[in-house]
Amino acid sequence: MYVILLGAPGAGKGTQAVTVAKALGLAHVSSGDLFREAQAKGAELGLLAKSYMEKGQLVPDEVTVKMVLERLGAADCAKGAILDGFPRTLDQAKALDVALAARGQRIDKVAYIKVSTDELLSRLGGRWICRNCQAPYHVKNLPPKVAGKCDTCGGELYQRADDSMETAKKRLDVYFAQTAPLIDYYKKAGNLVELDGEGEIDSVGRALVEALQTGVRS
Ligand code: AMP
Repeated sequence: MYVILLGAPGAGKGTQAVTVAKALGLAHVSSGDLFREAQAKGAELGLLAKSYMEKGQLVPDEVTVKMVLERLGAADCAKGAILDGFPRTLDQAKALDVALAARGQRIDKVAYIKVSTDELLSRLGGRWICRNCQAPYHVKNLPPKVAGKCDTCGGELYQRADDSMETAKKRLDVYFAQTAPLIDYYKKAGNLVELDGEGEIDSVGRALVEALQTGVRS
């Protein structure tokens, strides 16, 4: 089962992807995390991605598609995966369709998590991430039990450089220009489900798991 979580930066894709991956027993593949891991290792891919990420721009399709397809070829993705942050352009979506078709697979569902622009900006401004396990927190909506420490692994929390207000606005502009057209692309493909992403984190998660469990094409 291959599922795409679609939505703007700050819509809750990362948080919900963790819940859904656990509930459905699927791998969680986050393109942003893959770029951040490559950066942490000092790999060439990380250095290349950094210059785009810092400006709130998209990393070129060629590089991104290659990285994600390689990740999808790993053993833990054999039964499927939750794709978080990928695809972000029509060319990425088309390349993914072609690559999955070549493996006799396809995208089963695309969950579009809808959140208003005002709410997105407020969320991105208050976001903190665990440096160790990437779990996301929010000063207001999802504070950690102990300030500055991850509830799950005790790792140090930090604010991503690209979550500054200026870069957050740029990332939203990029989203509306380049990623939002994917909503129509998957609507036409007939596998899009829309969810209100402004409710409580747990209730959005439950609605999401339910939507993915029902009516998945076999
Ligand atoms: P995210 O963690 O998904 O918000 O991604 C952080 C940043 O990584 C984005 O702002 C982009 O610079 C880059 N990135 C992540 N996923 C993609 C993608 N599918 N295509 C291009 N750039 C991406």
